[in-house]
Amino acid sequence: MSNPETYIVNEKELKCLNCGENLFYAHDVKLNKSLFVFLDIEMFSKGGKAFVCDNCGYKHEFYT
Ligand SMILES: [Zn+2]
Repeated sequence: MSNPETYIVNEKELKCLNCGENLFYAHDVKLNKSLFVFLDIEMFSKGGKAFVCDNCGYKHEFYT
């Protein structure tokens, strides 16, 4: 497992909403596409990034 790092999101350093820690583990995340394809909602079918706080484990997800 890699070491936690600091990340910049929208030109701001990401800080945990729960504890204020700035070290995170990053993961690629995918929404379940099948439902969105069925509903023909393309804009929500993109992949995203999840950042899990190294300190408390709170998970922050971003879909851009
Ligand atoms: Zn935290």
